[in-house]
Amino acid sequence: MTKSASWWQLGGRLLFALLIGAGVGELFGSFWAGIAIVLATALVLQLRHLMRLMRWLQGERQDEPPDLPDPWELLVSRVARLYRRKQFHKQRLLRLLRELRRSTAAMPDGVVVLNPQTEILWFNRTASRLLGLRGKGDVGLRIDNLVRQPEFGQYLRGAQYALPVTVRSAADVEQHLSLQIVPYGAGQRLLLVRDVTREARLEAMRRDFVANASHELRSPLTVIAGYLETLAQDPGVDPLIAGPLQEMQRQAQRMSRIVQDLLELSRLESSDREAPSRPIDVVALMAQLRQDVLARSLHPSIAVDADSRALLLGEELQIHSAFANLVDNAAKYTPPDGSVHIRWWTDQDGGHFAVSDTGIGIPREHLPRLTERFYRVDAGRSRSTGGSGLGLAIVKHVLQRHGAWLAIESVEGRGSRFICHFPPERLSWAADPGGPARPLEPQERLPATELTSAAAALPAAVSAEAQTTD
Ligand code: ADP
Repeated sequence: MTKSASWWQLGGRLLFALLIGAGVGELFGSFWAGIAIVLATALVLQLRHLMRLMRWLQGERQDEPPDLPDPWELLVSRVARLYRRKQFHKQRLLRLLRELRRSTAAMPDGVVVLNPQTEILWFNRTASRLLGLRGKGDVGLRIDNLVRQPEFGQYLRGAQYALPVTVRSAADVEQHLSLQIVPYGAGQRLLLVRDVTREARLEAMRRDFVANASHELRSPLTVIAGYLETLAQDPGVDPLIAGPLQEMQRQAQRMSRIVQDLLELSRLESSDREAPSRPIDVVALMAQLRQDVLARSLHPSIAVDADSRALLLGEELQIHSAFANLVDNAAKYTPPDGSVHIRWWTDQDGGHFAVSDTGIGIPREHLPRLTERFYRVDAGRSRSTGGSGLGLAIVKHVLQRHGAWLAIESVEGRGSRFICHFPPERLSWAADPGGPARPLEPQERLPATELTSAAAALPAAVSAEAQTTD
C-alpha cells in the first residue's frame, strides 16, 4: 500500500470511530464524553504501536519486525530495508578489511601507517618484526621515538621522500633496512620497510672485488709502465717500434689512471661516514687548479673568480680531487680557443663552487646519468682524451660525504656548468671575521686573468639541469 493511502485509511478509521463514539455519547446524554473516550483509546493504541516499534529499534533488530497495522507497517518495512542494506555494506567492508589485513600481513615488506604527527596508527607483522614494534603497545607512539637511527630522523624531518633511506637495524647490525615514506591523504604517511641485507652484502662484495682487483693490478702496471718509459728513452731502440712503444706507454698511463680512480672510488664508497670538517682554503685551491690547466700543452683560456674568502670545512684531498676533476673535464672538453671560468661564492644557502666552460657541451638526455660509473657521452672521444668515465662518480661521492650536491647545466655545442652546492654548516669564516656571505671587495678578489665569463655564455633558459640525488 502507498504511504498516502495508508494515512487516508488511518484518518478514515479514526473518523468512523469518532462518529460511533459521538453517537453512543449522545445516546447516553454526553456527546463530548463519547468523543473523548474514542480519542483516548486511539491515542493508547498508537502509543502501544510506537512502544513496540521502539523496542524493536532498540534491540539488535535480529528479531522479526513487529506485526503492526498501516501506516506503522510501512515505517517498519522501510527501517528493515535500510537496516538490511547497511548490514550488507558492513559485511562487504568487513570482508574487504579482513582481506586487506591478511594480504598486508603476508607482504614481505613492512607497512606502518602514520598520522600527520608521525604517530603510529597501524602496522603489519613484517614491520613489527623488522622494526621491533610491539603489538598494540606501540600504536599512538611517534615513529622516530621507536626507530632511533639518526639517518631516519633526518630523512623524516627533511621531507624529501622520493628516495628511500638505508639504515642498519637496531636489533642486528648485520641487517640493512630500506625505509621509505609515501605521503597520502590529508597529511598521512605510509612507511614502507624492506630488508635489503642481501643487496647491501652484494654491493659490499662488489666494492671489495673492485678494490682488491685494482689493488692487485697497480703493482704490475707500475712495473710495465716503468719498463716502457725506460725503453722509450733508450736511443738505441729500433725506430720502427718507437711509435708502438709510445702508444703502449700512453695506454699503460691510461690504465694506471683508471686503476687509481677505481681505488679512490672504492675508498669513498667503503665509508658512509661524513667527511671531517677541516678548513680548506678554496681560493688557494682555485689558484692551484688554474696553474694545472695552464700547464697543459694546449689549453683554453681560464678565469678565476673568488667572491668570498670563506673556508670550506671538509677533507682537503677529497675536495681537491673533486674540484680538479671538474676543472680537468672543462679543460679537456673545451677547445683551445674557448674559455673556462671557475667561481667560488657564498650566500645564505651556503658555499658554491662552479666550473663553466664554452666547450662541446652535453646533450640533454645524458645529463641525469653523467655521474654513473663509466658513463661517457662519447666513449671514443673520452678515451682519446684519456678519460676513465669515473671522474664525475668520484665528484658525486665526495660531495655526498660533505652533505653537498652537484648541479649540471649544459647546452650541446655551447658549453657546460657544473656547480657544487655546499650547506652553510660546511663554511667557516675563521680567516675572515667579517662573517657569513660577505662578498669580497673588488680589490680583495683574485686577479682574474682573462675574464671571458664562460658562465655568461650559457643562457639559463635553454640549459638543462641535472641534480644528482642518488
Ligand atoms: P671522463 O673521465 O670520461 O671525463 P667523467 O666521469 O669525468 O669521465 O665524465 C663523464 C662524461 O661526461 C665524459 O665522458 C664526458 O662525455 C662528459 N663531460 C664531463 N664534463 C664535461 C664537460 N665539461 N663538457 C663536456 N662533456 C663533459
